[in-house]
Amino acid sequence: MSGIERLHAAMEALSLLEADAVVEGHLERAVKEEQSYTEFLCELLEAEARARRNRQFEMRLKMAHLPYRKALDQFDFAFQPSIDERAIKELQTLRFVHEASNVVFLGPPRVGKTHLAVGLVLTALQAGQRAYFIAAKGLVMDLGEAKREGRLSKRLSVYLRPKVLVIDEMGYLPLDEIGATLLFQLISARYERGSIVLTSNKSYGDWGSIFGDPVLAAAILDRLLHHSTTINIRGESYRLKERKKAGLLPAEERAAKMA
Ligand code: ADP
Ligand code: MG
Repeated sequence: MSGIERLHAAMEALSLLEADAVVEGHLERAVKEEQSYTEFLCELLEAEARARRNRQFEMRLKMAHLPYRKALDQFDFAFQPSIDERAIKELQTLRFVHEASNVVFLGPPRVGKTHLAVGLVLTALQAGQRAYFIAAKGLVMDLGEAKREGRLSKRLSVYLRPKVLVIDEMGYLPLDEIGATLLFQLISARYERGSIVLTSNKSYGDWGSIFGDPVLAAAILDRLLHHSTTINIRGESYRLKERKKAGLLPAEERAAKMA
């Protein structure tokens, strides 16, 4: 076996997939740039480490089931002055994840609640945490089915594992008593163990009507809010801005063609 063949065989045996793929380019460069052994080895292993981190991130991303991929730096805070940007910066430190406290985004449709929840998840995934995103309706349906089939505790454990659980669109549909009880069970089980990021179009005062039962609603809120940050968004729907932009674009294009 030639030297390079031995190198590929060893890297394959060690599953150094990226290093195996890039080593020849690195060798050429090392000769051309007269790199030291240390520099050469460092760069090769750093490439391997980087590729691994990316692969693991992509895997966690897939497992998180996000509805779309939008980061916090794609959020236009100037458009939504009711949001205290410092509060979002604080959340970005992920201290809330380490403390297993919760985050609640409240506000009317299309003001950015889900975007901010997704952005926090991406931040957590990048830091190596696991997360899972699900709509309240789907969550309650899933848990209800598991309960009917006698496998609730096993199913609950799926929602206990990730460090960050997003429950999106709480309150868009009212819940029956079983649904509300299941949600209470889940929120209690995650209490002080893992963060919940929740979005809702209903203010806390209206939660009694989501759950049908004001006592249960109070119990859920009590657990949810004991360690939590609430971000209240009282702004315009982002769609208005998108529409305005859509209206402007053709005019701009026309102007560009005339110029
Ligand atoms: P909701 O509050 O109903 O959950 P979303 O967060 O899904 O709304 O926002 C609707 C769409 O508008 C998304 O594509 C989101 O990325 C975009 N959006 C909303 N607010 C902003 C903002 N301030 N900056 C950038 N994009 C925004
Ligand atoms: Mg939403």
